[in-house]
Amino acid sequence: MPFLNAMNDYFLKNLSDKIKAVLTAKAKDGQKLSGVAPFGYERDPQAHTRLIVDEHAAKIVQRIFALRTEGLGYAAIAAVLNDEKIMPPRLYYLTRNKKHIHSQTSRIWLGVMIKHILHNEIYCGHTVAFKRKTISHRDGRTVPRDKSEWLRTENTHPAIISGDVWDAVQRRNTKVKAHYSSRKPQPALFSKIIFCADCKKTMTFCNKNYICRTHADSGGSICTRHSISETVLTELIFSLIKKAAEKTVIDEESIRHELQKNRAERRKKSKAKAARQRGELQRRLHALDAHAEQLYEKKLCGAISAETFTALAIQTEEERLAILDKLAQLKQAPQNIPYIKKMPVIETADKDVIATLIEKIEIGEKQTVDGVKAQDVLVLLR
Ligand SMILES: [Zn+2]
Repeated sequence: MPFLNAMNDYFLKNLSDKIKAVLTAKAKDGQKLSGVAPFGYERDPQAHTRLIVDEHAAKIVQRIFALRTEGLGYAAIAAVLNDEKIMPPRLYYLTRNKKHIHSQTSRIWLGVMIKHILHNEIYCGHTVAFKRKTISHRDGRTVPRDKSEWLRTENTHPAIISGDVWDAVQRRNTKVKAHYSSRKPQPALFSKIIFCADCKKTMTFCNKNYICRTHADSGGSICTRHSISETVLTELIFSLIKKAAEKTVIDEESIRHELQKNRAERRKKSKAKAARQRGELQRRLHALDAHAEQLYEKKLCGAISAETFTALAIQTEEERLAILDKLAQLKQAPQNIPYIKKMPVIETADKDVIATLIEKIEIGEKQTVDGVKAQDVLVLLR
């Protein structure tokens, strides 16, 4: 069996090496290896592995790069395209090729799509392959490869973006990345349990505020901010938890009853054990009494000396007293049940406390009701 496994392994390994070899050859030749052509291109109907420019989509790609050089962020660029009702890549591809549009296909541009395009060197006419690799021939998952392992082939297809624009955009991308990674990671107390009341998506934590993720990802095209500061929310939640804890009346009777029941069972068991121990001790006590009598008789008839008698009698007496002590202990009554007074006090609203006590928080949009600013915060306690 181990041999068979080894053979299987060897076979699989070899096969995966062979597939890799073919892929490498194709990539060097500048052919697009797999999947749908990147947004801005389409596959050449004459030679399926060649990319040709899709004029309509290419204009959008150029626009995205131009907006970036003007200083717009990923989400802001997405917002511009959404405002103009421009279809995002996947939806565009499916519509153009008259394919079925899945309900999960995004109808709007998201920041990540913009980011992906702005980092893809394919738009300069170059092919970069092997950006990712599979973990092993046994595990199909992929991980990013080190840049040194990338296989880059220049001028494999027509460029959409000039080298100058590409360089300008990459400088900007690097600068923005450095800015964001220099900021300390902020602990978000409520992530995973905080939702937008309107679109029901989770909220994202940004600059000490929670904002609707749909709104953020769509660059503000969909839903509204629903912004709430973490400080305000923490105070609110903390006072709510405190109030809830105060209102919680502990059913003392039932807890005492439960404790008593447990104790009665334990007592029953320990009673039986104590009775057994008492029996043994009493038998030993009788034996000692008999022994003491014998000692006395032996002393009387001169079988043992007075000194020996005293020593043995003391020993016997010590053992007898120890047994009497043990017997007294066994008769002692069990302790009383402790009195339960109040709920444990919650001092801080840390992640543990929040996870234990709160199921869900829903944040409504800010509004003005009769001249007063208000925001609905729905908290579902566990
Ligand atoms: Zn929302």
